[in-house]
Amino acid sequence: MVGSTTDRSASPLARRGEREKWYNKLVMEQRCLYDYNLDELTELLREWGEPAFRARQLYRHLYVRLVDQVERMSDLPLALRQRLAAIPLSTLRLERVQIGDEGLTRKALFRLPDGAVVETVLMVYPDRSTVCVSTQAGCGMGCVFCATGQLGLLRNLSSGEIVAQAIWASQELRAMGMAGAAGRVSNLVFMGMGEPFANYDRWWQAVERLHDPKGFNLGARSMTVSTVGLVKGIERLANERLPINLAISLHAPEDDLRSELMPVNRRYPISALLAATRAYIAKSRLVGASRLSMCCCRVKTTIRAMPWRWPACCGAKRRAGRNSFTSTLSRGIRFPARRWIVRSGNE
Ligand code: SF4
Repeated sequence: MVGSTTDRSASPLARRGEREKWYNKLVMEQRCLYDYNLDELTELLREWGEPAFRARQLYRHLYVRLVDQVERMSDLPLALRQRLAAIPLSTLRLERVQIGDEGLTRKALFRLPDGAVVETVLMVYPDRSTVCVSTQAGCGMGCVFCATGQLGLLRNLSSGEIVAQAIWASQELRAMGMAGAAGRVSNLVFMGMGEPFANYDRWWQAVERLHDPKGFNLGARSMTVSTVGLVKGIERLANERLPINLAISLHAPEDDLRSELMPVNRRYPISALLAATRAYIAKSRLVGASRLSMCCCRVKTTIRAMPWRWPACCGAKRRAGRNSFTSTLSRGIRFPARRWIVRSGNE
């Protein structure tokens, strides 16, 4: 483990470098089974002399049946199971689960092989179940209001570590025996620890694997990625083939305040962010059925574009703040502020 081999007197940057080096070596040498897509599993088993249908069987065990131990994949030959047992199913080790809302909200703390920890939250509602997934251990974005941001970035998660969090949530749901949930999550938000676009390649591999109709089969429209506003990531997302939802953490309507709260704004000011958002909307042809959200915790609310909505927590005292946001956004993304729909009882 890195924690035991790294010189603790070294600078944080040197320690992070050591950790990344160690982690990359681990990924090269020992991927977990959730790090493989179906093609890679097929290739791996082909090298072992197994026919392609064995890979499809294994894939179904992992993503459809949600089997948590290779020994339980009883339709695979014993010799293959013994060989597969050398590869960890997941590298996440469950340390603790905090339970709230009479069992309907569950927050898991996972320990990674290098000692870092990440959190995953499962929220069960009458009509859906949502899992909030982390994409990095720690975060390098440094937003002042965020505890994770104060940790700094420890490392990026592998695609398998991201995928395994969604699998855990589905297994948890199944164990809870939730009626209608059928052991599956219906919505997934990348809003846990980390900035997904700062770990774009591995994050997107996880999105594709979770979406795969032959496996976990989660619809693209059921997934939402939240970004602090990394313009390059928004541009890349606009060109992807899967139309997953985009949420932007805005938090302040003008640059001075936003830069104070979110250092990323110094690199990508609001004008650049809104220009990228405009291009994203145009490219993904979402106008009219937009699944774009703007998160503005300064006025304790989430603004949704089409349909825009202000929840009840946005009271009359917040109106000035809201007006400031609406004028910024309507300047930026072509939606006139007068079309914002206010559903709050306080308004
Ligand atoms: S990007 Fe998200 S996780 Fe990272 S510091 Fe900002 S709010 Fe926290």
